[in-house]
Amino acid sequence: MYRTKTCGELRIANVGEQVTLAGWVQRSRKMGGMTFIDLRDRYGLTQLVFNQETDAPLCERANKLGREYVIQVTGCVSERFSKNDKMPTGDIEIIVSELNVLNEALTPPFTIEEQTDGGDDLRMKYRYLDLRRECVRRNLELRHKFCIETRSYLDSQGFLEIETPVLVGSTPEGARDFIVPSRMNPGQFYALPQSPQTLKQLLMVAGMDKYFQIVKCFRDEDLRADRQPEFTQIDCEMSFVEQDDVIKTFEGLTKHLFKTVRGIDLGETPFLRLPWSEAMRRFGSDKPDMRFGMEFVELMDVLKGTGEFGVFNGATYIGGICAKGCAVFTRKQLDELTNFVKSPQIGAKGLVYARVQDDGTVKSSVDKFYAPEVLNKLKEAMQAEAGDLILILSGDDANRTRKQLCELRLLMGSRLGLRDKNKFALLWVVDFPMFEWSDEEQRLMAMHHPFTSPKPEDIPLLDTDPARVCANAYDMVCNGVEVGGGSIRIHDAVLQAKIFDILGFTPEKAQEQFGFLMNAFKFGAPPHGGLAYGLDRFVSLFAGLDSIRDCIAFPKNNSGRDVMLDAPSAVDQKQLDELEIALAPRTE
Ligand code: ASP
Repeated sequence: MYRTKTCGELRIANVGEQVTLAGWVQRSRKMGGMTFIDLRDRYGLTQLVFNQETDAPLCERANKLGREYVIQVTGCVSERFSKNDKMPTGDIEIIVSELNVLNEALTPPFTIEEQTDGGDDLRMKYRYLDLRRECVRRNLELRHKFCIETRSYLDSQGFLEIETPVLVGSTPEGARDFIVPSRMNPGQFYALPQSPQTLKQLLMVAGMDKYFQIVKCFRDEDLRADRQPEFTQIDCEMSFVEQDDVIKTFEGLTKHLFKTVRGIDLGETPFLRLPWSEAMRRFGSDKPDMRFGMEFVELMDVLKGTGEFGVFNGATYIGGICAKGCAVFTRKQLDELTNFVKSPQIGAKGLVYARVQDDGTVKSSVDKFYAPEVLNKLKEAMQAEAGDLILILSGDDANRTRKQLCELRLLMGSRLGLRDKNKFALLWVVDFPMFEWSDEEQRLMAMHHPFTSPKPEDIPLLDTDPARVCANAYDMVCNGVEVGGGSIRIHDAVLQAKIFDILGFTPEKAQEQFGFLMNAFKFGAPPHGGLAYGLDRFVSLFAGLDSIRDCIAFPKNNSGRDVMLDAPSAVDQKQLDELEIALAPRTE
């Protein structure tokens, strides 16, 4: 036996026991004639003691141990003279009598402690060392618990976990596919699934009734902090259900996860269901952060045409938010906010602000254009009180201006400490539009995906005004993050063909790309619907992380590279020849 105990479990009650531990040398200190070593394994840290006086040769060997050496020790558990109440094992130490070096270690390129001196790139290159750090390891433990609890809950509800293939066919809708050449079928390619969407629908046609899978999905997109080229979904589908059934089932799962993984009881109350148009109007976002208010107030009536300010008089949307107690903001702080909204990534033309002063009067950056009565109306419309700061954006595209105001709202929320990572505000956004216009493609695109069913009452609009059709789709939002999304699906081949037509597919192209699905629908497809959670995002919210990378064992960097494996990389000419692939000469 390599060990009789782990480095995390010994307590005062174990004093006097003879134990064997194995692990890594985290740190060693020499004090007088004593050498102290912190021994680490997955379960914790235990202090080892070597005494020059009682066993000089052993103590000298201990003095030679370097950081991250793998050792095995046997010794007696003893009560510590100076206890450390920050460590679970802080009451005891091991008086070592035997030391066995299992493996030496090079000096690690960064310190393997909570606060490390390693930068991001270095830590990713040596991720296996980074993962030895408790804070990183904890994220993986949380993820594990999240998966286990998901499986146990869905199993209790009758869901079957079914695997779907990773090598599938390429489909044009959605993000860019990763493609894989087929050696046995030269000139032909598989694609990696962006999600098992059509396969889970086929499982419903197959009568599986309730399916789930914790599954890798692949999308070849440009990366941001919360995106990875491969990510994990909890993918689910159910038969003979309506929107309400799906929402209730997954609210149940979400509450179960909060309770068992985070110890948070979300209570019996159903989550708020906010129609998409209302979310956009009140928060300028389809994933509003509802941990705080600061809702938008539309100010067209108050400020357009009521003064000499040309910018507002020419606007098609004017909206404001009220930041409580922020009238004290200095000129410099307001300039910072102005620079923020004018930055290229936000793109607003400018920021108008108004302070409500202690005597209740309003002092604004547009005072010279408006009579005091108008500014007073502004105060009333915003329900602002003495000490509050009103921030106003305007523009000629209501949706764009709302999105800019949303960014400003989020920034103010952060500034005011209203976005506490330990508080969770969950809701469903429902009634999404079915399509959105793409300037790039010059056609309507599916807002969710092409298999989403329209609201039954909107089906007649498909022929006359498709842009106004609402979808039977829903997103689950937590703290301003879309953690899941899904829809009730089309299960009728004729309606599915019509949607493909609206999306600009010729009947031949639709048949070529999605014939397998439309044909399956002709063999008795049940009504069905489902959703998928973004597991990485949900876990990082639970762990209070800023990036999903921190809860992934071996993530990729922002250029899609695995710097530890040095992938992607060139392949041998022989491999390319087998695949009948010739590389075009590179131009740069
Ligand atoms: N497959 C969808 C997605 O990946 C989720 C769903 O509609 O179930 O977004």
